[in-house]
Amino acid sequence: MTTHAARNDLAFRIAIASGKGGTGKTFVATNLFYSLLKQNIPVTLADCDAEGPNDAIFFPGRPVRSLPVTRRTPVIDERICTFCGKCRQFCSFHAIFMLPVSRVIRCMDELCHGCGACLYACDAGAISEKEVQMGELNVFSVTRTARIVESRMQPGFPSPVTLIKAAIREAGHANTPLPGHSVLPGHTVLLDAPPGIGCPFVQTVSLADYVILVTEPTPFGLSDLKQSVECLQTMEKPFGVVLNRAGTGNDGVNEYLDKEGFPLLMEIPFEREIAFNYARGRLVCKSWPGFQHALVKMHELIRRTYGNGHHQR
Ligand code: SF4
Ligand code: SF4
Repeated sequence: MTTHAARNDLAFRIAIASGKGGTGKTFVATNLFYSLLKQNIPVTLADCDAEGPNDAIFFPGRPVRSLPVTRRTPVIDERICTFCGKCRQFCSFHAIFMLPVSRVIRCMDELCHGCGACLYACDAGAISEKEVQMGELNVFSVTRTARIVESRMQPGFPSPVTLIKAAIREAGHANTPLPGHSVLPGHTVLLDAPPGIGCPFVQTVSLADYVILVTEPTPFGLSDLKQSVECLQTMEKPFGVVLNRAGTGNDGVNEYLDKEGFPLLMEIPFEREIAFNYARGRLVCKSWPGFQHALVKMHELIRRTYGNGHHQR
């Protein structure tokens, strides 16, 4: 399956994802972003965790641009409605409330996903749509060639998918390659994916050219890794694994990767100082040149292996 048909940018997109929260996904995404910008590699970090974005915390500064993101939501005219109930039957999200005896019918915005099915179902022409703001994109300029695009959803909306798509689209156009730069054409866009393997995760990785799965050496880490891998294999996405807090827990993840022949991109050892600095919003790679170098090498390897294929599509 390819998802590039609608693309018109030359960015190479790497999603950093994990099956669950707390494995170090944002840690890897922000440190990779910093390591690339220090090499003057054009890079944009898209924070796709719209329900709790926190990448920008590591790069103090105010947004240079904020863009509202809207979504269509149905409005039902009770004067025209015949209370046939078809819209309610079509709505998979139980977002339509109807009380025919009292001639009351409403779309509950907090449940509505804006799919438009009810509009299609209504023969009476009682449903129209209005635009509602569901969140915003905040663009931070970190250096001349490095930016962050943060998606931030307002409370009360059921799904951040529209925002995530807008953030990834914006990130693809937020930077331009430097003339004569040594990396492959097009800048790198890092997608810090939402946790879990639900719709927001699928939306993010479906638009990526490569996926870095961050996990930890515990039974929970292994279980979530297996689910993420299954999902990526269904989508035919190339991926590799970063093992965070290596040296703790057990060998289950390493044994699984060996057995299945999946690439282990990097192991990040557990050290009290790393956890301490990260918890205080500090970028660990600033004081750990070896880590920075390893992240740059990992990026080079991914782009060398998968970058050409992307640009030939
Ligand atoms: S489908 Fe249209 S007419 Fe029927 S209940 Fe819904 S809004 Fe009313
Ligand atoms: S737009 Fe979709 S989710 Fe929203 S009320 Fe209509 S059918 Fe339900």
